[in-house]
Amino acid sequence: MLLLIPGPVRTHPDVRAAMAADIAPWDNDFRPVYAGIRERVRAVAGGVEGEHATLPLQGCGHFILEAAVRTFVRPGAKVLLPLNGAYAERAARLVREAGREVVAVPGTDTRPVTAADVGAVLERDAGIGHVLMVHHETGSGIVNDPEAIGVAVRAAGRRMILDSVSAFGALPFSMADHPECDAVIFTSGKCLEGMPGIGFSVARIDRVLASAGNAGSWSFDLHDVYAHALRTGWGSFRFTPPAQALRAFAVALDLHAREGGQPARLARYAENARVLYDGVLNLGLRPYLERRHQGPVIVTVHQPAHPAWALQRFVDELKARGVLISNFSNTEAPTFRVGCIGAVTPAEMRGAVAAVGEALEAMGVREMVAA
Ligand SMILES: *Cc1c(COP(=O)(O)O)cnc(C)c1O
Repeated sequence: MLLLIPGPVRTHPDVRAAMAADIAPWDNDFRPVYAGIRERVRAVAGGVEGEHATLPLQGCGHFILEAAVRTFVRPGAKVLLPLNGAYAERAARLVREAGREVVAVPGTDTRPVTAADVGAVLERDAGIGHVLMVHHETGSGIVNDPEAIGVAVRAAGRRMILDSVSAFGALPFSMADHPECDAVIFTSGKCLEGMPGIGFSVARIDRVLASAGNAGSWSFDLHDVYAHALRTGWGSFRFTPPAQALRAFAVALDLHAREGGQPARLARYAENARVLYDGVLNLGLRPYLERRHQGPVIVTVHQPAHPAWALQRFVDELKARGVLISNFSNTEAPTFRVGCIGAVTPAEMRGAVAAVGEALEAMGVREMVAA
C-alpha cells in the first residue's frame, strides 16, 4: 500500500525491520543509540554543541509542542500566534489550555503569514514575549517563512518557538542562524521518515536554564529533561521510551544522511508535489493553493462539485488501487489531501495520479470535474 498522508509516513523496509527486537532502554547497547540520535538531530537542526541541546519527549507532536510552550513561556504570558491554518488553530487551543494567553494574528489558509503582519503586532503590544509559528501548515500545504519572521522577532527583541513538525528534515532551518529561537519542534514520523512515537525539541541551553519552574508539569518540563540528561547522561530517559521506534529512527537518520540530507529530501518531496499538482490539474481538478504558495509536503485539492462525488467513496476507490489518503480535510473549503512525504518516489507519485484518475472514473465523476 502506498501511504500518502502527512504522517505517519511510508517508511523504508530497513526502518521497519529495526523495530523487530526486544530492548531494555537502560541497556548499555541502547544508550549510545539514543545519545547518538540526540547529537544527529541537533546537527540537522543546525545546532551547536554546548549551545543547543536535543530535548525529546515520548509521544506525538502536540506533546512536545505543549512541553515547549510550558517550558519557555511563563504562566499567563502572551504568545503571538499567526492563524493561517488548522495546525495553528490547534496550537492556539494548546497554548490557552496551558494557561498562556494567545494574541492571534488572523490569516487565511491559502496565504503565508508575512513578517510585516507579525512585526506590526509586536510593535503595538510590548507585552508579547513569544511568537509561536507553524513552519509548514499541514492543514492546507502552505509554507510560512521562519527566516523572514525570525528576523522581525529578533528586531523586536522577542523570542520564537517554531513548530516545524511537518517540515523538519525537508525544509531548511538552522538554530545557529536564529538566536531568537528558543526551540524548534519536530517528530520522528514525518519528513525524517521514522516511526511515530517520539517528539523532539532542539533548544537553546541558555533559555532552558532560564526556564526552571515555568512548566507547572513534571511530564511536560523540558528543563527537567535537560537536568536529567546532565545527571544521568544523554543516553538516558526519565520515563519509559518507545525504544523500538528510537532504534528505527536511528536507521531513518542514516537514510536521511545517505540521501543527501535536508536539500536532497526537499528536492524529492518538491518533485513529488509537482507531479501531483500537475497531475490533478491534468485530470481537470483544482488544487487548493496557488502554485506559488504550494509547499512540498501535502497537496490539497478542491473536492469536485459533482453529485456522484463522496470523499469516503473516493478514498475507498483509491485504496482498492493501492493508494491510501486521508478521509478528512483540514481546510476552510472542502478538499481532499494527498501527502508527498515519506519513502515515496516521483515515479510512484505518477502512479498515484493515475489511480486518482481511475478512481474518479469508477465513481462516474471524471467527465465533469472542472468545478
Ligand atoms: C503533525 C503535526 C503536529 C503534531 O501532530 P501529532 O498528531 O500530535 O503528532 C503539530 N504541528 C504540525 C504542523 C503538524 O503537521
